[in-house]
Amino acid sequence: MSQCVHEVVVVGSCNTDFISYAPHLPKEGETLTGTKFETGCGGKGANQCVAAGKLGAKTAMITKVGDDIFGKQFLESFKVNNVNRDHVGVVKGVSTGVAAISVADNGANCIIIVPGANNLLSTDDIVAAEETIKSAKILVCQNEISSDVTLAALKLAKKHNVKCIFNPAPAQAGMQSDFFTTPDIFCVNETEAEIMAGLTVNSVESANSASKILMKSKNCQSVIITLGSNGCVYQAKVDDEPVHIPTEKVDAVDTTGAGDSFIGSLAFYICRFPHLPMTEMLRRSNQIASLSVTKRGTQISFPTQAELPIDLM
Ligand code: ATP
Repeated sequence: MSQCVHEVVVVGSCNTDFISYAPHLPKEGETLTGTKFETGCGGKGANQCVAAGKLGAKTAMITKVGDDIFGKQFLESFKVNNVNRDHVGVVKGVSTGVAAISVADNGANCIIIVPGANNLLSTDDIVAAEETIKSAKILVCQNEISSDVTLAALKLAKKHNVKCIFNPAPAQAGMQSDFFTTPDIFCVNETEAEIMAGLTVNSVESANSASKILMKSKNCQSVIITLGSNGCVYQAKVDDEPVHIPTEKVDAVDTTGAGDSFIGSLAFYICRFPHLPMTEMLRRSNQIASLSVTKRGTQISFPTQAELPIDLM
């Protein structure tokens, strides 16, 4: 097993995306002819890890896949994208997680996720990965695996003074308080902020209000709310005012995975440029995520270090 220090360690999901494009979404019982089909490695965990890996961070993924063709594709994708696979478990007789995604011409989508092997990642796997988590500069978690496992990972990281980003996506109502208080950075998009703060979030002003609620009522340590082409809002301390970090709006071709690109980039900057002010890391993460939305696909749309403008490195 590798002894190297991993900069970014991600505990999370692998889902193979099957994306069908059609003029509209099917009604119940309707069979539609689609216009295009794409497939690729996805899942918020794998996406965020690969986003950081493509930028050159030393990354490691703690996850489970099935012993099927899709599991093999994840192992290959991790290899080419700079992701350590020591804690990628391959489970016999179980399918790799899949996400069947339908996208209509107007951009509306519906998604069925079958977690498969993701559901078999256990707290024992986290205990077994303690050295890897301990060696990390930052741990990143999301909400696509069992919440017990996510919390065990966050707590283990805190035990070893490893910084944590938690991206509670997809949003779950009624999360226990430890999910808010344990991570150093609580990062949500508008929809998640809305569910967790209990108010409509569709502007910088409403994001500021949601951030204050998450800091005051939920006792988050710091909050980031991503706002699509509006960039993001960041609140460092409960008594601070949230700061808006705008970005240049780009014409999006495909926004799938924009949030994952943003979080992977932020993890990269925290490890590689720890002395930059957080607002500058967020400005750069905004810009990298905006590059990702100008290309189709998810992981394939995340830029490599070589593709970045010089001022982002
Ligand atoms: P998704 O669920 O599609 O992966 P998300 O809802 O989690 O994305 P968003 O808040 O939509 O995340 O976008 C994340 C980041 O991507 C934004 O904070 C911003 O930096 C960048 N971004 C997204 N869309 C645009 C755009 N049209 N122009 C510029 N930047 C964008």
